[in-house]
Formats: sequence, structure tokens, C-alpha cells
Amino acid sequence: MDDPLVDRRISCPYCAEPMHIVIDLSAGGQSYVEDCQICCQPMQVSFDTDGEQLLGLTVDTAG
Ligand SMILES: [Zn+2]
Repeated sequence: MDDPLVDRRISCPYCAEPMHIVIDLSAGGQSYVEDCQICCQPMQVSFDTDGEQLLGLTVDTAG
């Protein structure tokens, strides 16, 4: 059984710091807000999945 968690490197849309996020593909496509670990600004993380592969990932400013 494959691990539904995938690791992706993103850049904060505010401070441009690179960071890793872990995405759970088992729950389907999602959109959620995650605070940057460096500057604490809210990032809107959105992705789509077919349940096995990450099909798209966008990180944008939230709010
Ligand atoms: Zn940041």
C-alpha cells in the first residue's frame, strides 16, 4: 500500500522562504490556509489529486 503523504517544497508568497509541506492525498483535493513558519503570514494552499498522484499545487496569499 502506497503512502498517501507526499512532500513538496514550496516558497512562501510573502517572504519567499523555501519550506516543505506534507500533503495527504488520501483525503482528495483540498484548499486550506497554513501559516508560514518563517513570517507567520497565512498562505492559501490548494491542490488536486486523483487519489494517487498530486495533480496541481498552488500557494498564494490568503485573506
Ligand atoms: Zn513567509
